[in-house]
Amino acid sequence: MADGVRQAHSLAEAYFYLSINPCPDCATGVRDAGEGLRLPDVGGTARVEIETTCRSCNAVVRTVFELSDSSSLGGGQAAPMISRSDKPSHLIDVAQWLTLFRVTAEAAAREPNKQAARLKGVEAALCLEEALKFYDDDDNDLPPGDAFFKDESRQRLRDHPDQFSRQRLIEMRAKLPALDVMQRSAQSPRRAWWRFWRR
Ligand SMILES: [Zn+2]
Repeated sequence: MADGVRQAHSLAEAYFYLSINPCPDCATGVRDAGEGLRLPDVGGTARVEIETTCRSCNAVVRTVFELSDSSSLGGGQAAPMISRSDKPSHLIDVAQWLTLFRVTAEAAAREPNKQAARLKGVEAALCLEEALKFYDDDDNDLPPGDAFFKDESRQRLRDHPDQFSRQRLIEMRAKLPALDVMQRSAQSPRRAWWRFWRR
């Protein structure tokens, strides 16, 4: 089945979207994503189609992403990047970015290969940066209502508002190495870094 066209900043954001959102067919299954297929540009915008297969119902779903930053298609040698924009994601909400931060940081901690662990560490830090982009009011420690795209995300805010404290996120970020230092040390020609979650 085709799953429409979505706007992503980068190929990495597209893959994160597919990893955090369940299969649209059965609404629960985790999906495995294949390699992106580059489609012809439209009006100068790069497009890529990614096919996923659901681990629960085996549904095959194709999603087309329009990428506002086509430099993300450059391959494995580029430093990890999700979005160069200061604006928050249209695809992944604040709660999902925080989940991706936690899951990716845990994967980095488990990763025995140092280079791969560094890459995952950068990816985790980038997910935290994406979450912080939603906080638009310095007087409010919690993100605005439009930072939540899904009912389950809103429920998580009601159940665990402490998880969304901006002060807490900034303190977590302060414990990480500087992002540019991490990015320089993590550049690897050997591996397409955005596929880290297909294991
Ligand atoms: Zn499914």
